[in-house]
Amino acid sequence: MRKRMVAGNWKMNKTPREAVDLVNLLKDKIDKEDVDVVLCVPAINLIAVAESIMHTNIKLGAENLHYENCGAYTGETSATMLKEIGVKYVIVGHSERRSYFKENDVIVNKKVLKAFEYGIIPIVCVGESLEEREDDITIEKIRIQVKKALKNLTDKQAESVVVAYEPIWAIGTGKHATNEQAQEICHEIRKCIGEMFGEKIAQKTRILYGGSVNGKNANELFAMPDIDGGLVGGASLKEEFANIVNADV
Ligand code: PEP
Repeated sequence: MRKRMVAGNWKMNKTPREAVDLVNLLKDKIDKEDVDVVLCVPAINLIAVAESIMHTNIKLGAENLHYENCGAYTGETSATMLKEIGVKYVIVGHSERRSYFKENDVIVNKKVLKAFEYGIIPIVCVGESLEEREDDITIEKIRIQVKKALKNLTDKQAESVVVAYEPIWAIGTGKHATNEQAQEICHEIRKCIGEMFGEKIAQKTRILYGGSVNGKNANELFAMPDIDGGLVGGASLKEEFANIVNADV
């Protein structure tokens, strides 16, 4: 039985003070114990959020990491740094990083392996563009991304990695995938993980859907058999995030 996960991706939003205010609001509203709640916040907010979520079930997540341990990488954050302040999860391969910062599948895989080396669980994002969907190559695209991102993982790591299916056309657009579209691709992702690591492991891996999830559509999406929760952008910046966590599925 896979435990549901709802992860917020704050992107480049909220100052440290605003971050604490939002966490305090969410703490009071979230009332589900059987959901893993993760807040992936800008690096500058990690310490403030770590303090605010102490003695709650909310877990700390980062939005990015570098694949080297340390060195001349101006502006970057290493897994060691994240680990020391209590980061449990890190988003890797978000489509915004793939497109604006030119992160390719090889870099994504290096980051995934580095996160695991420090005991941080990567939330690996995959997804097709509108053009790829219209050209009917969504499944091929997703399979390549999954295979490359999860290359060289141990069975144990494959069990604990989180994969987020985020169609690019649904991110920040208010236009979410239908329940059936999301289920179809999440099922394909599980099938692909099964081919790589075996069916038993694939049944344990959590697969999330992301792309315009909100308080109204979350329960239906999360009720689909291969969707184990959501990665939430815009709606994670407000009280609505608690409704998504609390969704009755
Ligand atoms: C995201 O950026 O991961 C995301 C899913 O954004 P939104 O929920 O705003 O579509």
